[in-house]
Amino acid sequence: MNTLLDKIRSDFPILQQESFGKPLAYFDNAATTQKPAMVIDAIDQYYREANSNVHRGVHRMSQMATRAYEGARTKVASFLNASSSAEIIFTRGTTEAINLVASSFGEAFIHEGDEVIVSALEHHSNIVPWQQLCFKKKAVLRVIPVFDNGELDIDALKSLFNSKTRILAVNHISNALGTINPVREIIRMAHENGVPVLLDGAQGLSHGPVDVQEMGCDFYAFSAHKMYGPMGIGGLYGKKEWLDKMPPYQYGGEMISKVTFENTTFNELPYKFEAGTPNVADAIGLGVAIDYLQGIGWDFVRQQEADLLAYGTEKISAIPGVRIIGTAAQKASIISFVMDKIHFYDAGSIIDQMGVAVRTGNHCTQPLMDRLGILGTIRASFSFYNTREEIDRLVESVVKVKELFD
Ligand code: PMP
Repeated sequence: MNTLLDKIRSDFPILQQESFGKPLAYFDNAATTQKPAMVIDAIDQYYREANSNVHRGVHRMSQMATRAYEGARTKVASFLNASSSAEIIFTRGTTEAINLVASSFGEAFIHEGDEVIVSALEHHSNIVPWQQLCFKKKAVLRVIPVFDNGELDIDALKSLFNSKTRILAVNHISNALGTINPVREIIRMAHENGVPVLLDGAQGLSHGPVDVQEMGCDFYAFSAHKMYGPMGIGGLYGKKEWLDKMPPYQYGGEMISKVTFENTTFNELPYKFEAGTPNVADAIGLGVAIDYLQGIGWDFVRQQEADLLAYGTEKISAIPGVRIIGTAAQKASIISFVMDKIHFYDAGSIIDQMGVAVRTGNHCTQPLMDRLGILGTIRASFSFYNTREEIDRLVESVVKVKELFD
């Protein structure tokens, strides 16, 4: 191991533990990433020193909490290169951000006979809200097909647009297969057809820089816990021109400007979409996770993850009876694979006993698994804090599974 990697690993307290008497090799980063001590400490410090409700109190601590909460919003805005922090709405995460758009945009702009496009690569979070909206509005859900290698069929997308298409929602990076979708091309095609685009960025923010203005997306949904921040917080970037036209998603305190029994006027952006007491501590934690990532730098993250992806792909594909699912030309550091005649749950349990944490199952992408004709995969998703030695241990444990079953 090099010293920089040693130093980075020591920033993550959880990585120091053992699992079944062996050093933990954590390869479930697409499900959630681990948290550096500075994120954990920031949350702890907030509750010890500044806990207060935001935007309301004139007292000192309330003002401290408000400054920290709004400071986190400013950090998110600049991390995504949004044109203003009014375009950043805090949510519980990606799922809530997508539900917000499906519900609010859907309420205003989707009517009977209209069409919504998603892709065959989507997580359930970017299918079910649109599907249920379509049921409610008697609209039609269209699906961009996927090739066997996990790439979207972009030519087929061309024929899905028509005058009834109202929105296109697609993931930036597939959690199940690691495919990095050609989102700029998709956005360009959609905009040529007058269709706004929501990107599900749950997997998009931890592997490299995201510039929402340069990409041109209309909405970008994300979760802090997948980018080294806490659970329970995430957000939605939305272009102001859309957010201004969309009705509130939930009603209550904070999101109002004036309330009488006869009527209510709503607050300005972004507060119009943030009803109730927000998750201040975790918003602060998200801001510190951004500081952490920026401290490490994207060059290191990308170089390390590309190395692990190449090394892991070579080693795993060389094991007889193992097949990698998802071989797109552009991939993030996620390797999904199946083993001949061995159920992924059995394999996953044995791999776990060897101190290696992988994910098994359908990865909340049942329609994709149906399309690929499988029930699920074993998925190893790498972070910059993982090592080649850990991948060697994964390979050893997969070989051990084969030996046990043979
Ligand atoms: N979309 C993708 C691509 C995901 O990977 C996930 C999380 N696995 C989600 C959406 C949902 O994210 P969350 O559960 O944090 O809301």
